[in-house]
Amino acid sequence: MRRFLRYLWPFPLTLLGVLIALAARGSGGAMRQVEGVLEIAGGWPAWVLRRGFPFSGPVAAITLGHVVLGVSSNALAATRVHERAHVRQFERWGVLLLVLYPLAGLLAWLRGGNPYLDNPFEREARMAEAADRGVSGLAANQSTGR
Ligand SMILES: [Zn+2]
Repeated sequence: MRRFLRYLWPFPLTLLGVLIALAARGSGGAMRQVEGVLEIAGGWPAWVLRRGFPFSGPVAAITLGHVVLGVSSNALAATRVHERAHVRQFERWGVLLLVLYPLAGLLAWLRGGNPYLDNPFEREARMAEAADRGVSGLAANQSTGR
């Protein structure tokens, strides 16, 4: 039931992502399911991501509910931990994230910060990346005996 709600709450955005994914297939995008998330590599969304957005500039990937659009499968793999943090944010905040995310960026900017980098939702995603690197770094150190 909880799993159902986690998918239901951001569903309008997931649906938008699925429509983009289907349209991307027609322009060479590749679609696959990874751990309950639909990932799309390439196609015309990649062109949009490479052009970038105001404040963030070009990005490697973007999350819409349970859909992640990436410029390539390598980009999807490299950003998976970061984008999964955004998926969890969508599961927590649902469609409200569409309002909360830009609002958080605006508040960061009003405080003199960068609307993208200092956005708490981006900070949380970067912390997830850092934690993941910490764990894999530790594992690497253990395997080399350091
Ligand atoms: Zn992000």
